[in-house]
Amino acid sequence: MKIAVLTSGGDAPGMNAAIRAVVRSGTMYGHEVYGVKDGYKGLVEDEMILLTHQSVSGMLSKGGTFLGTSRLPEFKEIEVRQKAIDNLKARDIEALITIGGDGTYRGAMELAKMGLKVIGLPGTIDNDIPGTDFTIGFSTAVQTIVDAIDKLRDTSSSHQRVSIIEVMGRHSGDLAVYAGICGGAEFIITPENPMDKADMVAKIKKYKGEGRRHAIIVITEKILDVHALAEEITEATGFSSRATVLGYIQRGGQPCPEDRILGSRMGTYAVELLNDDIYGVCVGIRDSRMVHLPFANIIGQKRPKNELYSLVKKIS
Ligand code: ADP
Repeated sequence: MKIAVLTSGGDAPGMNAAIRAVVRSGTMYGHEVYGVKDGYKGLVEDEMILLTHQSVSGMLSKGGTFLGTSRLPEFKEIEVRQKAIDNLKARDIEALITIGGDGTYRGAMELAKMGLKVIGLPGTIDNDIPGTDFTIGFSTAVQTIVDAIDKLRDTSSSHQRVSIIEVMGRHSGDLAVYAGICGGAEFIITPENPMDKADMVAKIKKYKGEGRRHAIIVITEKILDVHALAEEITEATGFSSRATVLGYIQRGGQPCPEDRILGSRMGTYAVELLNDDIYGVCVGIRDSRMVHLPFANIIGQKRPKNELYSLVKKIS
């Protein structure tokens, strides 16, 4: 069988491990694997190359995605998707493996509805995809944020400061919760766990009274203006506060072992699903096992609330 593989939407460390696994396991099972450049754009513009065992050599440890990624809003139009399908047909490519986030899944489901054999892999640092405990890239991003929190704590403590750290996550607080726990944050504010400002101010005043030298607040992006919050905290508590927006560094870096393993497992599992004539599904990891579910069961669904959040109140 000829199989195409692409990465789309936001990049995430470990995507290369997943591509590599598709190529290596695909070749091992006797398939031909084509790499599509820059996500759905490469499908529409017919930018695909045959990948061999050798093409993915040295990719496991590299961050980002060597195939490139892009955003292509026009892919929502059926005529644009038809062009992608025609290009694949002209090359006798029967199946497509997509690696990306929620938007990429939506595009993949539309292609599946048009008759293409599609498998989706969850590649996003946000861990915001239902049907999987973890997404490819999440663990590495947590590690990056924890490194930043550790550094900010050093300077916060020296200056007796409250540090507010804004992290990514879109609608999911998982990055903030995991990194906040690892970094010993006093407060974690996420879309699922809103801020109780009065309580926070009271606690920070108490900490100051106790002689604590720092406090860490980790907050998911797009909830509020963190610089304005820093000013409010400084005014209300007398404890000087500064905000740091971590931004795009959270997407980069060498994938950590968990993401290399997850990408390797998911990429291989996707090929094995195709071997078994299973498609129209997305891959996940549940209780350490590979699983798959139809796109329709995943898209638009909510992930269960992160149970780890309750820990923060007990140990901060
Ligand atoms: P992510 O996959 O990281 O969530 P995006 O939301 O930007 O990133 O989605 C990636 C790409 O998926 C979009 O640029 C677009 O090409 C495609 N896409 C998103 N939503 C749809 C949709 N409803 N129908 C078809 N394609 C879509």
